[in-house]
Amino acid sequence: MTKEKITECVGRLSLIRFFPQNRFAIAELARIVNELCVNDAEGDRLTDEALRRFDEWCGPVALRAFYWERVANRTGCETCHRYGVLENGRPCTCAMGRYRRNSNDQYRPYVPPRATPDELAASVAWSEELTAQDSERRRRVEG
Ligand SMILES: [Zn+2]
Repeated sequence: MTKEKITECVGRLSLIRFFPQNRFAIAELARIVNELCVNDAEGDRLTDEALRRFDEWCGPVALRAFYWERVANRTGCETCHRYGVLENGRPCTCAMGRYRRNSNDQYRPYVPPRATPDELAASVAWSEELTAQDSERRRRVEG
């Protein structure tokens, strides 16, 4: 990436709420953007997509995961049969290989656990029981 484009991207990203104000943090972000994006066009796409996706500053790990998920080129080649991995198990030199080498599959944003239908039914039954106990108590007090 060109220095001008990195500066522009970081400047545009500062629109995001809670964007870091510390100059070392901003310099580190510039370094991360330069490391992730292979050219100015990717820098623009990362910035465009991040401004659409994040209302609050997401942090470096989430930004990297977001790049690999939404921006990175995943075009495979004939050598690796488009999988990005060679027969010896090593990543290919093509864009898909770069994705395989660098994408952080470990990162997962926190998502609250989803209840199973049984758990939901149990929780509804429990709240109905509490409501019944409550009205029973109220009847005793009033009566
Ligand atoms: Zn390849």
